[in-house]
Amino acid sequence: MKAGKIIAYISAAVLILFGVLFILSAFTPATINPGGNIITGLILVGIGFVLIWFAARKLAGPPTTNVTLNLDLPGNVQMEKIKCQSCGGTLSSTDIKIVNGAPMVNCPFCHTVYQITEEPKW
Ligand SMILES: [Zn+2]
Repeated sequence: MKAGKIIAYISAAVLILFGVLFILSAFTPATINPGGNIITGLILVGIGFVLIWFAARKLAGPPTTNVTLNLDLPGNVQMEKIKCQSCGGTLSSTDIKIVNGAPMVNCPFCHTVYQITEEPKW
């Protein structure tokens, strides 16, 4: 979740909390203007819900998952010959993902995750 979204939700929660307090205070005998308090409370609650709606819709933005592209490795990598550096298991193209611009191996056999750092020699 993004920071702006969290802030929006917290702000909305505070607004709704104060709105409810205003509405509740309207029912205490000491309150001079209960009608005004109810209106103020409703407005605060309304703004809170608008904030939640806004945060849910506008701030949803692009998904926050890692940038994972399908395989687009430099040319001299021969996929069918790549073996796991840890267990020697044969890796397929689906076991290698480009994460943040670096090819990451996720071995299906030993579940080792590592980055391909040097030119493959296989
Ligand atoms: Zn392995």
